[in-house]
Amino acid sequence: MKIENRFLKYISFPTQSNPYATTSPSTDNQKEFAQFLIEEMRILGLCDVEMSEFGVVYGKIPSNNHHQGDVIGLIAHMDTSPDASGEHIHPQIIRHYDGQDITLQPDMLLSPREFPDLNKVVGHDIITTDGTTLLGGDDKAGIAIIMSMAEYMYKHPEFKHNDIMVAFTPDEEVGRGTEHFNLDLFPVDYAYTIDGGDINAFHFENFNAYQVLVEITGKSVHPGSGKNKLVNSQEVAMMFHQMLPSQQKPEYTEGYEGFHHLTHMQGNCEKTRLEYIVRNHDYMQLKHQLNDFSRIQAYINSFYGYEAVHLTTHEQYLNMKDIIKDHPHIIEQVEVAMRDVGLQPEIIPIRGGTDGARLSFLGIPCPNLGTGGFYCHGPYEFVSITMMKKGVELLLRLIRNNVYAKEDMPF
Ligand SMILES: [Zn+2]
Repeated sequence: MKIENRFLKYISFPTQSNPYATTSPSTDNQKEFAQFLIEEMRILGLCDVEMSEFGVVYGKIPSNNHHQGDVIGLIAHMDTSPDASGEHIHPQIIRHYDGQDITLQPDMLLSPREFPDLNKVVGHDIITTDGTTLLGGDDKAGIAIIMSMAEYMYKHPEFKHNDIMVAFTPDEEVGRGTEHFNLDLFPVDYAYTIDGGDINAFHFENFNAYQVLVEITGKSVHPGSGKNKLVNSQEVAMMFHQMLPSQQKPEYTEGYEGFHHLTHMQGNCEKTRLEYIVRNHDYMQLKHQLNDFSRIQAYINSFYGYEAVHLTTHEQYLNMKDIIKDHPHIIEQVEVAMRDVGLQPEIIPIRGGTDGARLSFLGIPCPNLGTGGFYCHGPYEFVSITMMKKGVELLLRLIRNNVYAKEDMPF
């Protein structure tokens, strides 16, 4: 099956995850997609294919070379972001993209002036949305790459490889992709997530990530008699927010710069709740950012003379670089394989996290490879079919380099 047809089939499944659900997976429609993938995996010769009760799909492409080489794992996620609708996606296929503006809706353009990554895919076949939904390339492009690789191996038994473990996770977009990941069903030496971004990109650094809940208690009094008594928790919340370093926001930061981001606020006079995420590649700097929250809390509480501000911090994930740096051969072999297939490896710090970050800390070093998907989580998302094909080639090359000495390669 052509990779683009496979991809188009996958994005016809709505698999939006839900950050507020307490079930695993967070939405049932992810299981329907999982079931479809399971059938396809069996058709493509994978064995030990199963879905866990939490909706994680596992499978194995069994070794055909007496277990020579590393056991490599490949992971992609099945859910799409809750940030935009993923239902009734109407993809547009553009052949040999000419570098001009693309009309998504009559008043909505996907333009290289605003979205410069379009310049990377001039001449490529690309798929965009119709402007009303996200595309779902994050991460169905990753799944399509892995499955197309599996299909190649199935059709080419002369391609020798060790066991290759495959896992498709639910709920990555709501930070719970590896919550129920069963390491016993995924016995690998190391793994790659295949998730988002330029196909030349190689990621093994991500944010250290904390969530901070700021709960503010006011003193509600009838406003007519509130003088010198009333404390409006919403006023305190605004004061709190204003005291945070104003330049450390996502809209003012890039590269290795950390930020805090107010993701949600809700309140009334009596109670206000602010939810922040705090991010930094450098753990010490992240601790400084968290200290800012504590210092402001202490200041406001002493100002009002009671515990108006209550903080709860929660670690979400850590920077996998601290693990990967001890496994330089993994980095090296990706760079070699990329050059072998004509890519220019570009090591880019992820301004986010991945399933691989958690897995790395659980003992499976797990960098990320790109898919050819850009501007995900919204209607300007697009994927390059040309890059996805390159992604398949890259995985095959990685596996082949791992098994054969260069001179022994059959092709
Ligand atoms: Zn993703």
